[in-house]
Amino acid sequence: MYSIGIDIGGTNTDMGLVREDGTITERRRSKTNQYTDFSLFVKDLSQQIQSMIQVAHVGLSEVEGIGIGAPNGNFYTGCVEKAMNLSMHGVLNFAKEMSLYLPLPVVLSNDANAAAYGEYVYGGAKGMKNFIMITLGTGMGSGIVIDGRLLLGATGAAGELGHAIVVPNGRQCSCGLKGCAEAYVSSRGFKQTYSELRAEYDSLHKPSDENYHPGWIDHKRSLADIHPKDIGDAANAGDPLAIRTFEIMADYLGIALANAVAFSSPEAIFLMGGPTQVGEPLLRPLRKSFEQHLLYSFKGSCSIYKSQLEANDVAILGAAALIKMQ
Ligand SMILES: [Zn+2]
Repeated sequence: MYSIGIDIGGTNTDMGLVREDGTITERRRSKTNQYTDFSLFVKDLSQQIQSMIQVAHVGLSEVEGIGIGAPNGNFYTGCVEKAMNLSMHGVLNFAKEMSLYLPLPVVLSNDANAAAYGEYVYGGAKGMKNFIMITLGTGMGSGIVIDGRLLLGATGAAGELGHAIVVPNGRQCSCGLKGCAEAYVSSRGFKQTYSELRAEYDSLHKPSDENYHPGWIDHKRSLADIHPKDIGDAANAGDPLAIRTFEIMADYLGIALANAVAFSSPEAIFLMGGPTQVGEPLLRPLRKSFEQHLLYSFKGSCSIYKSQLEANDVAILGAAALIKMQ
């Protein structure tokens, strides 16, 4: 059997035809932001799905269904609602619109839930009944599987650990609240921490004191030109400010994860997204903060791992895995 995975992002929509073992046999990409008309967008996606099926010589009866991972995707309604980064607005009923073109079941959820389910069906969480997936990048998303089921809650939006408050009255978060984990852990928050550390360092040192080493970030470089990946590379080259930036991120993330363990007792937490590529500069202080804030009865019961799915595949596999939920 096969399934179709569609990952809807603000810029691109990626689609894939996925075999039972997690191999993506066909892929297509569509520019999400060129559409303002939702019906046209879904029509185009349906045509691309039909083309994938034809090219792969797969019969429609061999396709289990279509899974869609989308920002603000609601599992219960099959709709995307209030997605701020999409060029199409209003309530987008993917499940209904898609059924006009293809006689296949459609399951939709938010992208972090999809990532969690992808890890469960095809990745490192295979066989686990309790785990949490954390997606790091422009935001901090989370998908929580408890007792073998994805936690959806009353609204279908359960698992917003990024907006768990880790600092009362702390940094302003894009959601309107203050002190959310996301305000420290997202790429924007991470860059803000680096700028604050650098301003503090530069105010205490004269430029002539600068002890520059190859691979470190030159303080003459404008902050606007420094990306999270540069800070990651510098941390691996021993740059103390870059290392400290990761320590601060890890400290807040560790608090959010320890809190999550207190209510759901997972056996593992998986991390995916750009910042995880840096490896030890993030993972070492994260394990330390996590252990430090963890209730004694959970110590040693939950490990932190990087996602075992390929970065290029995870979004499509996650979406495709959603069809196994129904
Ligand atoms: Zn928030």
